[in-house]
Amino acid sequence: MTSSKKQGGNTALIHSDYVAPEGFAAFPVGIHHASTVLFKNVAAMRERNWQNKSAYTYGLHGTPTSFTLEARLAEIEQGEYCLLAPSGLAAITLVDMAFLQSGDDVLIPDNVYNPNRELGNWLARSFGISARYYDPLIGAGISELILNNTKLIWTEAPGSVTMEVPDIPAICVAAHAKGVLVALDNTWSAGFAFPAFEYGVDIVMQALTKYQSGGSDVLMGAVITRDQALNSRLQAAHMHLGFGVGMDDAYLVLRNLPTLKLRFDAHDASARQVANWLTTRPEISKVLHPALPDCPGHAIWKRDFKGAGGLFSVLFDARYTEAQTDRFVEALTLFKIGFSWGGAHSLCVPYRIQHMRRHWPHQGILVRFNIGLEDPQDLISDIEHALATLHA
Ligand SMILES: *Cc1c(COP(=O)(O)O)cnc(C)c1O
Repeated sequence: MTSSKKQGGNTALIHSDYVAPEGFAAFPVGIHHASTVLFKNVAAMRERNWQNKSAYTYGLHGTPTSFTLEARLAEIEQGEYCLLAPSGLAAITLVDMAFLQSGDDVLIPDNVYNPNRELGNWLARSFGISARYYDPLIGAGISELILNNTKLIWTEAPGSVTMEVPDIPAICVAAHAKGVLVALDNTWSAGFAFPAFEYGVDIVMQALTKYQSGGSDVLMGAVITRDQALNSRLQAAHMHLGFGVGMDDAYLVLRNLPTLKLRFDAHDASARQVANWLTTRPEISKVLHPALPDCPGHAIWKRDFKGAGGLFSVLFDARYTEAQTDRFVEALTLFKIGFSWGGAHSLCVPYRIQHMRRHWPHQGILVRFNIGLEDPQDLISDIEHALATLHA
């Protein structure tokens, strides 16, 4: 307030001496926006290392808001280090850029989240990396596919459309015997229904867009590790790619973390109720829910998982045409048509799996359900009503 009187109006608007009192305490983490981070002198600026997260250097590398979110995500996943990325897909890209270079080979499950596959194809087409696709149920047999230049094996548990549950511990043992890293897209389990690091996974990727945000309003991803050397490579790639996230978005995820398990368990309970009911329906030939016996890899789910979440798929009986199952999807009223999942609203998407997979032995149209937080009995009634349109 003192010197500003002598300065021009703009300067006075920009430079204020007011500092809010110390000691404010509340539950929410503050939303610290910044591109520029201030140093008290040149020496402090020179000695600060952006890779050392005990201090701040530039907004791209984080503020207290993003550091807090990273720390909390690492805790949930029982990892040590976490980096945020602007989307789940960006987090997948971060892993590929950190651990692959031209001449390397990456193995990707045939049922992987499709943009991960598209990224693999792009790396193969334009960056001199070989990307090969394997049967998600291969287990220890992955060993035979590992070449001298194989550097990374992607896994997804389960595949988020066709729902096969892979044997991650067996894949990790085979990979590590040949010095290959294993990355897991652990989005379906929200970070706690599958304890990835305990089973040997090296790098965990999460689409925070789903359960962690929980509001269908944020795009964000995370990569979590336990190993400092792996984290350093990820940090370097993160820096080179310039993967900053907005602090308002980071705050939205932080705001919803305390209810993550309550929401996940509610999705899980409702989804099992709806999935069980669907097994009784003659229109449905298979319910691809990992907790049900028709799902490939069900025994592995039982052995390794602590929960199931809200996402599963069904195969319609082969007698129904795509036009009929499309009519079913459009006849639903509580289930909306849209990608993504993990929010409060139920969603439904029909897929053309033959266009996505090398091997797909099944007849019948696949439809994926995301069970939201509505009353499960209402969701069942909605599906029952829509199934009636198949016969109309
Ligand atoms: C949604 C999703 C992603 C990508 O997340 P975005 O934030 O939408 O880019 C990756 N993997 C799985 C399994 C997903 O469901």
